[in-house]
Amino acid sequence: MLERPGTPLRLVEASDPRPASGEVRVRVAACGVCRTDLHVVDGELPNPKLPIVPGHEIVGRIDMVGDGVNALEAGQRVGVPWLGRTCGQCRYCRKGWENLCDRPLFTGYTRDGGYATHAIADARYVFALPDNGDDVATAPLLCAGLIGWRSLRIAGDGAKLGLYGFGAAAHIIAQVARWQGREVFAFTRKGDDAAQAFAKTLGACWAGSSEDAPPEPLDCTIIYAPVGALVPAALRAVRKGGRVVCAGIHMSDIPSFPYDILWQEREIKSVANLTRQDGEEFFSIVPKARIATQTVSYPLTRANEALADLRSGRLHGAAVLVP
Ligand SMILES: [Zn+2]
Ligand SMILES: [Zn+2]
Repeated sequence: MLERPGTPLRLVEASDPRPASGEVRVRVAACGVCRTDLHVVDGELPNPKLPIVPGHEIVGRIDMVGDGVNALEAGQRVGVPWLGRTCGQCRYCRKGWENLCDRPLFTGYTRDGGYATHAIADARYVFALPDNGDDVATAPLLCAGLIGWRSLRIAGDGAKLGLYGFGAAAHIIAQVARWQGREVFAFTRKGDDAAQAFAKTLGACWAGSSEDAPPEPLDCTIIYAPVGALVPAALRAVRKGGRVVCAGIHMSDIPSFPYDILWQEREIKSVANLTRQDGEEFFSIVPKARIATQTVSYPLTRANEALADLRSGRLHGAAVLVP
């Protein structure tokens, strides 16, 4: 549990929460550690609920069902994502852009999440999962996979795709892009030979430093690292009419850049949150694309260590907490 941004998480004994009407309680089997959790813990996102239980890549089984929930039942294996609830009434919700809702709740940010033994979720935003999957391997799909999928869709259907920051999201999306028949170009921190080799094992045709130019102009790029300086770098990497997608929730300031690298109808776009439809599309692709995640498990009691390893860039793949 996080009591105050900028302080370590504390392990707290609490009585098991009870689901209200329309909610379910999930016994957590695994919860992925996402970069957004770091932004919450480090105080880079405004107005978290405090204290807050972080974590929005939850896989587990329902162990209690609130009144009025018919679509889910006790014992069912489910995933709980970042999008915890939307209002259904604002102009964004009415247009089908629930990812931009004016009055949302986000798991692990404005409602308690999955760094815990149990989590409460609004049943309408929970994804049913196949009964027999590997819980640890599935956890990173709940955000790195889902937001990754939305960012890939928004990047368009260009055949030559660049990925900046080869962590949890990129390692999943590289597999989806290869399955779609695209060429993947992976950009990592300078000198991160291990990440570059990892990208190649996942089918990247080229891997290099984010300071390098790709061997040929790209159709689109997605930036997963929270580094604003990558925006001009990615603009330089795309062809005329190419698109740069910023997939993170938080990024350091973007340095000023000459207009001529945006000129010729190049575009910059951000991706915010997810819709339930993104989830349904993505989970239907997972078995077809045979996505295999690379994970590093930590016991829940070592959550601070998992966050520190993610912060330092030491991880290749995705950290997952197991209560
Ligand atoms: Zn809304
Ligand atoms: Zn996330």
